[in-house]
Amino acid sequence: MLILAILLMPVMSGFSQSKDSLTVASIIKEATENSELEKLAKELLYGIGPRLVGSPKMQQAHDWAISRYGGWGISARNEKWGEWRSWERGITHIDMISPWVKSLEGTQLAWSPNTGGKSITAELIIIPDLADSLAYQQWLPNVKGKFVLISMKQPTGRPDYNWQEFGTKESFEKMKKERTEQTEAWRKRISKTGLSNKNLAMALEKAGAVGIVGSNWSSGFGVNKIFDASTTKIPTVDIALEDYGLLYSLTESGKKPTISVRADSKELGMVPTYNTVAEIKGNEKSTEYVMLSAHFDSWDGATGATDNGTGTLVMMEAMRILKKIYPNPKRTILAGHWGSEEQGLNGSRAFVEDHPEIVKNIQVLFNQDNGTGRVVNISGGGLLHSYDYLGRWLAKVPSGYKQTLETRFPGSPAGGGSDNASFAAAGVPAFGLSSNSWLYFSYTWHTNRDTYDKIVFDDVRNNAILTAILVYMACEDPAYASREKIVLPVNPRTGEPGKWPEQKSPTRKGGAN
Ligand SMILES: [Zn+2]
Repeated sequence: MLILAILLMPVMSGFSQSKDSLTVASIIKEATENSELEKLAKELLYGIGPRLVGSPKMQQAHDWAISRYGGWGISARNEKWGEWRSWERGITHIDMISPWVKSLEGTQLAWSPNTGGKSITAELIIIPDLADSLAYQQWLPNVKGKFVLISMKQPTGRPDYNWQEFGTKESFEKMKKERTEQTEAWRKRISKTGLSNKNLAMALEKAGAVGIVGSNWSSGFGVNKIFDASTTKIPTVDIALEDYGLLYSLTESGKKPTISVRADSKELGMVPTYNTVAEIKGNEKSTEYVMLSAHFDSWDGATGATDNGTGTLVMMEAMRILKKIYPNPKRTILAGHWGSEEQGLNGSRAFVEDHPEIVKNIQVLFNQDNGTGRVVNISGGGLLHSYDYLGRWLAKVPSGYKQTLETRFPGSPAGGGSDNASFAAAGVPAFGLSSNSWLYFSYTWHTNRDTYDKIVFDDVRNNAILTAILVYMACEDPAYASREKIVLPVNPRTGEPGKWPEQKSPTRKGGAN
């Protein structure tokens, strides 16, 4: 028996090696020849659009995912984890009426009040530079009946890389110096009101302003970041840098421009909010899980194409491929499409809290959430033996799909940023698949330009292949991935020993105040 076993061993491992190679080849073939990425992207980003937590579109997206999974023979469910104030964007028109007419490029911020079914036309006023909070209290009545400009006018609409390429070194340096001084002066101006941004908006509303106008430039051509409003009765809009500069200058020079704003958003009360969870049952170790993860929600200045449409596409496409090529995995494969990541990892934190029986049996989790680019970075997340298994699984990925991939072991635990942090806090080997930037932070992240046309499908396809192979390897691995943590280094600032990030509870009832 002993001799037989020894003789069999190379044959067995030879068999499993060729089985792995065949599966990997089939995954690549399926992803390349029968890709559904473009189709899924069109349905999600053009057909549905933005996915703000609690909005009807978020619900539509959850239902769409269930139906797509169903079409591939994969069971999927929407799991309720909380409720949120439901807001639906309507038609918005923002126009300059005088001293000349121009339609302005602007966006009503999420959860901003509407304009009551009519257009509001009024003059503008700039937050002035006053001595202190008392002076601001005395000034406040001046905003009555006016739109208030609350952002600094940017000195240039050209991104730094453009100055660097075409400007002289001197003019670039001069611009940066002036901009830094101006930004600092504006920060002081706002701080002298004695109010936070949120409380300032509320104070302006209370003093009778008819609307708040800001401009949150994202340091690139034509890009602004679009978040949520702090007002409860009057509309808040963001205006593109170019148009904001126009309004600001005309106001500053006493030309008394007027603008007209109409915003027809709807309030739909509190609604249940969900995660979509898809599942391919394991046949040998069905109570152990290999998990794919990507948040499903977005901000709604655009359509959330790269935050996190692309992460969503990667995970759905990987699931589709796995179901076709590897329909009977050893471990159960789960895909988590989380709700409300943008307001604080809420969907994934809720899943971790609600499913301790799953969380303690997760072999590994892969999350993707930083844009359309190829995965170029994986960190071991502070797990002592992460190199062993990640290294083993990555070894099976053909070199063409990991050409620019760098790994860092053992790395340090994710404290936040995306949903892998929710799982890492609970001790799960949860890793972020980190993408090449494509100028993500200036051009698409939370901006009005995060749209389908920014997707680089070859890179997304690369990531779907990489993910599917890693998931396959993690399912097949006879060993259960070690969760042993490194001893974290002493915090140089406090001198205290490093602490593993703590598991946090989600906000289960959002936007209600
Ligand atoms: Zn994101």
